[in-house]
Amino acid sequence: MAVLIDGKLVSAKVREKIAEEGRCLLQETGVQPGLAVIIVGEDPASQVYVRNKKKACEQVGFYSEEYALPAETTQQELDALLEKLNRDDKIHGILVQLPLPRHLDEKAVIEKIDPAKDVDAFHAFNVGKIMIGDYDYLPCTPAGVMELIHSAGVSVSGKECVVIGRSNIVGKPMAMLLLHENGTVTVCHSRTKDLAEVTRRADILVSAVGRAKFVTADMVKPGAVVIDVGMNRDENGKLCGDVDFAAVEPVASYITPVPGGVGPMTITMLMKNTLTSAQKKAKKA
Ligand code: NAP
Repeated sequence: MAVLIDGKLVSAKVREKIAEEGRCLLQETGVQPGLAVIIVGEDPASQVYVRNKKKACEQVGFYSEEYALPAETTQQELDALLEKLNRDDKIHGILVQLPLPRHLDEKAVIEKIDPAKDVDAFHAFNVGKIMIGDYDYLPCTPAGVMELIHSAGVSVSGKECVVIGRSNIVGKPMAMLLLHENGTVTVCHSRTKDLAEVTRRADILVSAVGRAKFVTADMVKPGAVVIDVGMNRDENGKLCGDVDFAAVEPVASYITPVPGGVGPMTITMLMKNTLTSAQKKAKKA
């Protein structure tokens, strides 16, 4: 039976620390960390994420602004808003909720955000800094995964780590963070041959695919640490991860549930990056 890594609990502890550091910053320098969240269109899942981000800001005592723009918003209008927020001293973090409507160029939008306020760490400047191991911000989901691994007292150094998925927001940076901690990292994707043979080598297995019950018990080495990044719906419409939890849990040593695993950590790491940005700004002033 695996030990459950409780993302809600870890997240609550980290948020307490963030709130405390935020209060100190405000008292000592008058700077209150501020986050602006932009959402374009009416995607229901995105609306939930944005609401949760606003709630998290309130919980840790941060200032927040929310921009809910109509689906027909033009690139020029979005650019103008980003330029305004880049100059706004109250705002230390800018987040544009993805995906954007198809007529907008996501890459151009991300590049428009001041890298110093890019708390998602999606800007090429910050991605490059992560690559060389000299970063201010870590992308929120992989950073949350690392916190969960640390919370379980698991050391990555020297371990076989397998990441399934190579997206720019999860898989690739995840691999990089595991590498920074001296894991021996393999990244798998849809063209990987004999996936189960590769994943069975993993001491630490991270799945970021986006398919329910994708990771089955025969893909997991006994005693492995299994981290489930996936957020999917099962046949009954219930939120679930990539891992067939009931089958894999008896095989693993540690496992994250969905919901209540990686999900809560992602927003917490966003708060952490916003705090870091505000602290850097206060130091410079
Ligand atoms: P994505 O961009 O769709 O990437 C999925 C990856 O899975 C791709 O690299 C793809 O390979 C790989 N893949 C697909 N089928 C595969 C197969 N049969 N065998 C091996 N690899 C396969 O998704 P994402 O944005 O990284 O997100 C992944 C999941 O994490 C989704 O469920 C998403 O909702 C969830 N997520 C959760 C959080 C959170 O806070 N918990 C945050 C972000 C994302 P190719 O590159 O070859 O196509």
